[in-house]
Amino acid sequence: MELTPPDIEPYRAGNTGVEYVTSFVASEPGPHVVVTALTHGNEICGAITLDRLLRAGVRPRRGKLTLAFDNVAAYREFDLRYPIASRYVDEDFNRLWHPATLDGARQSVELERARTLRPIVDEADFLLDLHSMQYATAPLMLAGLLPRSRELARRVGIPELIMCDQGHAAGPRMRDYGGFGDPASAKTALLIECGQHWERRAAEVSTDVTLRFLIALDTVTSEDVAALGGPDFAAHPRQRVIEVTEAVTIAGGRFDFAGDFHGLEVLAEKGTLIGRDDGREVRTPYDNCVLIMPSRRLVKGQTAVRLGRYID
Ligand SMILES: [Zn+2]
Repeated sequence: MELTPPDIEPYRAGNTGVEYVTSFVASEPGPHVVVTALTHGNEICGAITLDRLLRAGVRPRRGKLTLAFDNVAAYREFDLRYPIASRYVDEDFNRLWHPATLDGARQSVELERARTLRPIVDEADFLLDLHSMQYATAPLMLAGLLPRSRELARRVGIPELIMCDQGHAAGPRMRDYGGFGDPASAKTALLIECGQHWERRAAEVSTDVTLRFLIALDTVTSEDVAALGGPDFAAHPRQRVIEVTEAVTIAGGRFDFAGDFHGLEVLAEKGTLIGRDDGREVRTPYDNCVLIMPSRRLVKGQTAVRLGRYID
């Protein structure tokens, strides 16, 4: 564990009427840009980034900037001895973002928080949601399926890998919600997987991507925030795009991977065994198939792994 979970109690009151949400408004008009952390309570790199921005007094030059800590209830349960346990309290906050779910009668800790945050997400023109991963693989920008999201990922310029995907069968993510997933809207959302949950590198990626996101949207200038930048603040890697073709959703009571996959493995031959779902073989559907974010939580109805290919 290379990261220290920051104390976010100073941000509880905020200034928006919603706990742990703080907004700053510039005198110049411009878009409302929202950056969110702790969508999963154990993914602390994003909380470190927001803490840095808040302590440094970063302010928008135009429009509005909102910084939000999402699943604070799960984060409060964060225990260094069992860090993986605090992903959520009742259910995954990032599978609830469908109007029917949000407007429905069901209750949970995460649904209550999502309902409280919904007006802020509704108001956002641009969203960046900060995450980290179970395995130490290269950072991944998840840009969804819409061209404008991929274009924004290219304007941000880091990380090297951009993934275009439609999310999970278990339910839509915040980045897929409402206008963010609507081809007719201009609202644009990105989700960044910064690296392994507990590595120092994840917090560096999280901060650099956030700063580059704010610069790309002219919310701040490069000079405004250069002092907060890390190793990738000025990097310009050749970005590559992975198109996700399908998610392997677990149908049975037991799923086993055929290998010790950590993600971003390229399986050269079509028909290579990936795993077994209640004994049913799951094989690669085409040559040079990329495995994306294999899960350690192999539960029926959830995503075991996503499959994709490099298209650029
Ligand atoms: Zn996450």
